[in-house]
Amino acid sequence: PLTAGIVGLPNVGKSTLFNAITNSQVEAANYPFATIQPNVGVVEVPDHRIDRLAELFHPKRTIYTTFEFTDIAGLVKGASQGEGLGNQFLSNIRLTDAICHVVRCFEDKNITHVEDSIDPARDAEIINLELIMADLQTIENRIAKVERKAKTTKDKEARAEMDLLERLKPHLEAGQPARSLDISEEEAVFLKSYNLLTAKPVIYVANMDEVGITDPEADPYFQALKQVAEKEHAEVVPLCAKIEEDLSGMSTEEKDLFLEDLGLPNSGLDTLIQKAYAVLDLCTFLTAGEDECRAWTFRRGMKAPDCAGIIHTDFKKGFIRAEVYTFEDIDHYGSEQAIKEAGKLRLEGKDYVVQDGDIMHFRFNV
Ligand code: GDP
Repeated sequence: PLTAGIVGLPNVGKSTLFNAITNSQVEAANYPFATIQPNVGVVEVPDHRIDRLAELFHPKRTIYTTFEFTDIAGLVKGASQGEGLGNQFLSNIRLTDAICHVVRCFEDKNITHVEDSIDPARDAEIINLELIMADLQTIENRIAKVERKAKTTKDKEARAEMDLLERLKPHLEAGQPARSLDISEEEAVFLKSYNLLTAKPVIYVANMDEVGITDPEADPYFQALKQVAEKEHAEVVPLCAKIEEDLSGMSTEEKDLFLEDLGLPNSGLDTLIQKAYAVLDLCTFLTAGEDECRAWTFRRGMKAPDCAGIIHTDFKKGFIRAEVYTFEDIDHYGSEQAIKEAGKLRLEGKDYVVQDGDIMHFRFNV
């Protein structure tokens, strides 16, 4: 499963946020496939479509799809130089698919800030520079390997790669993340093979206090971080880690009441989960029946047999076809019978590219 690593300076609220995540962690019994490790939190992806399907089908079980966060504690200034347990942390980030960068946007004199003042843009830059420095090392090592080959032979591939490396290096040296470099599809293949930290998609999390969170747009700290994010075309999610920690122990009804009391439209953690899912190009297809209504994660662009294989390898091996309708149709018509009568049920073959929100019935040979 794909995972987003939580990074940030010390005392910005990472542990508080991770607590909120582990408190809302799914029951292993319902998700036997989830491997739950101490530094990993597996959460349900909130999805109103599943709630609506449950209303219509009255299933015995309702199962949301899940997403994983990994706690990457302790990334500090100097990590790329091996400060502290620097290299260990950097290699932990390397194992993640996206980065969830928590930045302190709350004041609290009792909680020291490692840099002695609240300055979201500076803080974001400190972490980003560490990641960039680590990537620079990777790139320099790669250049040492490829340069010779590109110069002394007519190896086309080596030259094409060198062309990328020669643009990437100054880009990183200028303090820019790899993800913001304009590259061709061919170059994207090289870039992927380096597994650079700053090529991973990032979401900034503005950790705000209980007051600031009621109107993030009016908060100068949030605005400062938002500017950083906009420059990188990255998302920023405002939340209050403390509130999320309180919410994490509550039932859905209690949660809604608590949020209403605070004047908040939704849980910031829920928004974060949804954004993290989206930056990784993840989509959801649904299965619906009287036994079970369930959401399944797939990568955008996957075809029907591969999606069938997510449920069971036999579904893929023996794939015949899929019967498909959209969530909008079941929401509108109310039953599968009505969908059929309206001519909205489609039969799709092995080349069908599954769409987010499709409701799938797979037909297969056993
Ligand atoms: P970490 O070092 O990044 O893991 O930070 P922690 O999660 O341990 O938080 C550091 C301190 O900040 C703790 O005392 C938290 O209770 C406090 N804290 C975390 N989030 C918030 C918040 O949203 N508002 C306020 N006021 N304090 C917070």
